[in-house]
Formats: sequence, C-alpha cells, structure tokens
Amino acid sequence: MEKAAVVDQIGMDEESLIRSFLFHLTCTLAKDKYTATDQDRYQALALAVRDRLVERWIQTQQGYHHQNVKRICYLSLEFLIGRAMGNNVINLLLEDTCRKAMSQIGLDWDVLRDVESDAALGNGGLGRLAACFLDSMATLKLPAIGYGIRYDYGIFKQSIDNGYQVEEPDNWLRWGNPWEVAHPELSFVVPFEGRAEPRRVNGVTHWDWVGTRPIVGMAYDTPIVGYGCFNVNNLRLWTARATSEFHFQDFSRGSYVEAVEDKLMAENLTKVLYPSDAVYAGRELRLRQEYFFVSCSVQDIVRRFKADANDWSSFPDKVFVQMNDTHPALVVPELMHIFVDKEDMDWDKAWELTVNSCGYTNHTLLPEALERWPVSMFERLLPRHLQIIYEINSRFMRKVATRYPGDFDRLRRMSLIQEDPEKSVRMANIAVVGSCSTNGVAAIHSRLLKDGLMKDFSDFYPERFNNKTNGVTPRRWLLKANPRLATLIRETIGDGWITDLDKIRGIERLAKDKAFQKSIQDVKYANKVALTDYIKRTLNISVPPNSMFQVQVKRIHEYKRQLLLALYIIVLFNRIKANPSLDVVPQTFIFGGKAAPGYHMAKLIIKLIHQIAGVIDYDPQLKDKLKVVFIPDYRVSLAERIIPAADVSVQISTAGMEASGTGNMKFQMNGALTIGTLDGANIEIKEEVGDENIFIFGLTADEVEARRSSYNPYHYYETDDEIRAAVDLIRNDFFSLTEPGIFRPIIANLLEHGDYYMHMADFRSFIDSQLKMEAAYRDQSSWTEMAIYNIARSGKFTSDRTIAEYNNEIWHCKPTDVAPKKSS
Ligand SMILES: *Cc1c(COP(=O)(O)O)cnc(C)c1O
Repeated sequence: MEKAAVVDQIGMDEESLIRSFLFHLTCTLAKDKYTATDQDRYQALALAVRDRLVERWIQTQQGYHHQNVKRICYLSLEFLIGRAMGNNVINLLLEDTCRKAMSQIGLDWDVLRDVESDAALGNGGLGRLAACFLDSMATLKLPAIGYGIRYDYGIFKQSIDNGYQVEEPDNWLRWGNPWEVAHPELSFVVPFEGRAEPRRVNGVTHWDWVGTRPIVGMAYDTPIVGYGCFNVNNLRLWTARATSEFHFQDFSRGSYVEAVEDKLMAENLTKVLYPSDAVYAGRELRLRQEYFFVSCSVQDIVRRFKADANDWSSFPDKVFVQMNDTHPALVVPELMHIFVDKEDMDWDKAWELTVNSCGYTNHTLLPEALERWPVSMFERLLPRHLQIIYEINSRFMRKVATRYPGDFDRLRRMSLIQEDPEKSVRMANIAVVGSCSTNGVAAIHSRLLKDGLMKDFSDFYPERFNNKTNGVTPRRWLLKANPRLATLIRETIGDGWITDLDKIRGIERLAKDKAFQKSIQDVKYANKVALTDYIKRTLNISVPPNSMFQVQVKRIHEYKRQLLLALYIIVLFNRIKANPSLDVVPQTFIFGGKAAPGYHMAKLIIKLIHQIAGVIDYDPQLKDKLKVVFIPDYRVSLAERIIPAADVSVQISTAGMEASGTGNMKFQMNGALTIGTLDGANIEIKEEVGDENIFIFGLTADEVEARRSSYNPYHYYETDDEIRAAVDLIRNDFFSLTEPGIFRPIIANLLEHGDYYMHMADFRSFIDSQLKMEAAYRDQSSWTEMAIYNIARSGKFTSDRTIAEYNNEIWHCKPTDVAPKKSS
C-alpha cells in the first residue's frame, strides 16, 4: 500500500514532475500563481526533484547496511559544492524531462535552476576537491559518507568598491535549503575543557574526562547522487546546539541571561567558515570546530560499527577514515580516547586499529599553512587528548631513538610536540604517525613531500607515502558547465566518456578535421558570447568576444602570482603605447578570486588589477586591443560560466608551491590551452597533452630552491628595460594618481624584500612564452587543433581515476550495487 501511494508521487515522466511541482508550490509553500516568486518556483522544483531521489537514497543506505560493507568516511572541514539542482538532475538523467516539463507550464528550466544560491562551505581547491570526490565516489558506487560542518555562513560574498574588496556575510540558508534533511535523532554530546582524572580499576589506571562544558552536535544530511546509477550517498554535516535550552540551576539562581549566553556561545561554534586558504589562522574557535566535527563524526562511525559488528578487530575492515588535510587529524587521538577510555581496549590494540583505519592527504608544503596548536590552548580545551598525544609521542620517540640512537636533532624534528618558539602540537606529525597512508596530490608534490618537508617520516615509514594526483568530476565541469561542448562530444563519440573519461580520446582523430574544428570554434565562441553577456549584465562592461580570453581565476595569493600576469599586461600596454600601429592579437584578461580578509597584500593586488583595468579603459589607443576585467565573487557557479569561455588557462604559481591545482584540469577539459610553470599537476598535464600543446615557462621547483640563496630581484630590474619600465609605472603611481603611494608595499616585496615568490626571475621567460602563444593564436586552425588535443587528452584528470586509485591502493572498499533486482 505504501509503495503504490508513493510511486504515484515520484514518476520520472513530465506529467508527474509537473504534478509534483504544482503540489509543492501549493501545499508546501502555500503559494498560487499570483504570489509565487522565482524563489518559490525554484524551491517547488527542487522539492519535486528531491522526491525523486529519496527512495534511492534510503535504498542505498539500507543496501550498504544489509551487505555490511566497508565504508569510506571522508572527513573534511570544507565541501565547496556549489549549486545542487542542475547537478542532481543531470546525474538522475532527468534534465530533458525537467526542461520539457517546465516549458509545458511556461517556465524556463535554465532560469529556475540558477535561482539556487551556492553552497559555498569551502575556500577553494581543497573544498572543491572534496565535492568532486563525493560525486565520483557515488558514481563508482562506493559506500562513502562525507563528514563536515554545516556552517551558517559559508565563504564571504565579495564585492568591489573603488577597486577594493569588500566582504559581506554569505547567508546561504536565508531561503531554507531544500536539499538537506535535519536529523535531530542523530545528536551527539561533544565535551570540551574540564580535566582528565585517574581511576584505579584492578590495579590498572583508567582516565575519565570530567568537569566538561559539553555542546551538542546535530546531523543534517544531503544526498549525493551518483551519475546514471542507483547509488545516492550521504553528506553529513554537523551543526552545534547548546546541551539544553536552559540550565535549570542557573535559571533558578536567577542567572537567566547567563544561561541564554551559554546557548549563544554554543551555537557560535558552527556559525562561520574560516576564510583563509593555505594560511593557518590559529584561532581557538577553529580548534573547537575541528574537535567538534571530529567528535560527532567518530561517535557516528562507532555507533554504526557497533550496530553491525561485535568484534573490534574488524574495525579496519569496516571503516576507513580519510583526512582531507590535517584539519580532521584529531581523529587519531579521538579514536584512541574511545578505544582505550570508553571501550577498555589495551593501548597497543587500540593503536593498531587506529593506524590501520586512517589515511591522511597533505595539501600544501607552504610553512605558513601547517597547523600547530599552542599546547596551552590544547590543554585547556582537550586535556585528555593532550595526554593521549603525549603518550603516542613518547612511544613514537622511543621507536625513533631505537632506530637512530643519539640522533637528537631527528627526534626534535619528528616529535609531535614542537618546543620552540612556542610549545605546540604539530598536527601533520600526528596525521602521519597515526595513519597507514600519507599522500600528496600531484606527482611533484608527493616527491617534494617525501624528499623535503617529511623526509624524516618517509625514511622511517617509506611504505606509508604515496601519490594520488587530483582530478575533477567531468559531470559538473564538462557535462553541466559546458552543455555545448558536451553535446558536440556526445554527437561525435557517444556517452561513454561521462563515466570513463579516457574514452574522450575518441575525438582526437578529428583534431585536423576542418568541419570538427569549426564546430569546436563555434562552441567556444558561443560560450564567450554568453560570458560577455553576463559581464555586460552584471558589471556593465563590454568585452569583445572575438578577442583572446586569458583567464586567471583562483584564490588571490602571492604564490599564485596574479601579480606576474598584471605585470605582463603592463608590458603589453607599454608596447602598444610605444607603437600604436603594432599588430597585436586583441586580448581580454579575466581575473577572479577572493583574498582572505586579513591578507593585505592579496587585497592590494586586487586593487592594482582594477587600477590597470581603469587606465586601459580610459585610453582610446587601446580600445579593441586590450581589456582587463575582474569578475567579483568567484565561486563554483561562476567558475561554471567562466571556464568554458577561456582560450587560455593561466597557471603561473612559483614552481614547488602549488600542490596540484584543479582549476588547471577544468580548463584543459574545456579546451583552453595552458600557459604555466612546471608546478603541481601542470607537469602531468604537459605529459598528457605533449610539449607542443602547452606553453611552459620559468624556473623549475629545483631551480627555485637552488637560486634562493643568491637571488637578487634587482638584477632583472636593472638589466631588462622592459621589465623595469613595467615596474616603474606602478612605482611612479601611474596606476594610482589619486591615491599616491598605495602600491609601495607591492614594489617593496618585488624588490627591497627579495621577491620571495620570484616574479622577477620568471618575468622575461613569461613574456617570451606569452608572445609565442599570441603568435600561435593567430593560426586559428592550428590553435583549435591544439585545443582538441587538450580536450581529448584530459582523461587522466577525472576524479573517477583519482578515487579508483585511492580505493585500490588505500581504502579497499567494494563498489556496491544497490539497485533493486529486475523482476523477470
Ligand atoms: C576549482 C576551483 C578552485 C581551485 O582552483 P585552483 O586554480 O586550482 O586554485 C577554487 N575555487 C573554485 C570556485 C573552484 O571551482
């Protein structure tokens, strides 16, 4: 009876979708055709779509439970998901139906879909990687669950005022979130503060964590739909609540206000995402967030394990916890705390289970990004965990000392506790020592990790170190973001590439085919026109769609060197001013990206880009030759608009500093040619597309290291007239006539302070590479051929490949079919 009643509501045909949509508009949202807004219509459609996936969602979770499978628990403090509806509808193979159904009732699917605000619970690459991994794990039918925090406010909204970044809160839940389901029954108590107290039982000391100030974590679940399959995985995000509405003692003592204050304090915990990317903030609230989400997730994991199993020895056969960076590294002491303190396991057994069920992904070598918590803060917040970490450390130090007797420097470097300048807990060391796998995210990054930052550890545990080159999901970054290109590819080679991206090679045989080249050019041009329309509509700036689009969109950070591209634009400016009849390829430079609110240099670079854009706009000699646009509020939904329109992908980080990059892969898939350094995954992109289909310049990572000690940026300034002229325009306030001196810090970093990111060392090589690229662009047929090779050879960079490697080499989970058996 239940079944029949439900089936009527969730048919996959147009008519039943329309019925469902109208039902939700009327009965859920209480609107009629006169009062319904676009937001209401979006919500009604989202609920109708959600109705069509909940059965699969429930069945998937039941299927995993019944088959008692090993599960991957992907712990990440960030999930940069973006919009859900378009992606869900595509993965449910429901997009045509949706479009036709909406058009039947006079609505536009493409408009409704884009009413949704981004779920922007991440800063950049690290958070977006987690989102791509969720898509791939579901599509590969892997029993996985994502664990994170349901921030009330995601990454701030960026607007620009007089060229300066302005941050506004991202109140993404204002209209409600139709994709999440609250689970108040899944609430866990998370203790903080208090003290560790010994208790003797039969001559053995046990430790109790007492006198705590607990907070409650409650689960919100979001479905993650696998492409073209039945599997719908779970993303479980935790929100903080006070333990009870009122402390009755406080209430009766008359401290009503204090009781409410406590409640507000508790709920502050998951208020906001820390907006720094690749920089360690070191704030106490952040450490609280980390423990809060680790504790909730581990309690949930242990609860599920106990429901299905009775032997702790099988824990590593049922659970694998992958840590996305060190943010979840408290999983290690937390598992030990539960095994030893709560389950009375002996230390060695608990340690074996912990190590065998954890893996750690490192995301950066930048020293300023490494998490180190002051011991004093740690001790106050997590006294028992600090004790456990000391115990792990003393056992570990003994092992190292036994292998390297007398090597005290090595002991100091490998210790989980750093003594100077401030006694602190090294989270990366905990993650490596407490897990069976440590991986980097691109070949070069994993090599530098092994031979550099973590050399001592890779000497000690060589079998633990491995590489998993990042990838991105072709469902969002090609099929959804670039429907024109996806359609052309489908018409040419079919659909196989969507879940097996190596098959995209099939278009390579047409690289020299003039008709196919023309189709590729038409797609790119249409995407460029669509982006120029968006820029006109939102910024009132006109961009010529027939110019060459060079795009650098990513977080603004000195190591990513937006400044190097800005300097090159000044070089072009000078060349054209010196010779107005110079035959140049018309070019548009498109920037986008947020600067961390406290990162003054990054914010100044945003200002500089705007000032350069303004000067160029003002000058009639540059009209139709040079254009600079900064598109504010770079985020996933904006990336989906921008990347398909790019001719050139700018990936110019100082070699050795970008762990992998994933933006680079999205651009390649969408037929942009890369101009880049030999850094991160650029190296592997070059290996895939071939040297002749990419523009590589600059020092290698090894050369950057070798040069450091003798590097003198003035040398380039003094010996290269073109470089000096470009720098001097900034220095002499040509771009800041009305705000003289504002760019002094930029010039100081570039010259007096030694140019840590080596812009000057790579500048000439960048100019040469740019000019070669400009020349190549003049031959549109050969350029398009190169673009086709880039698309055709992007198979390696699907996150499906990355996830398959994680699973085959680290997780060892079984793909699990949960589709109902077809009755014969
Ligand atoms: C892919 C992506 C990133 C990462 O870009 P990189 O160029 O690899 O730094 C950052 N932000 C958003 C919104 C993205 O989609």
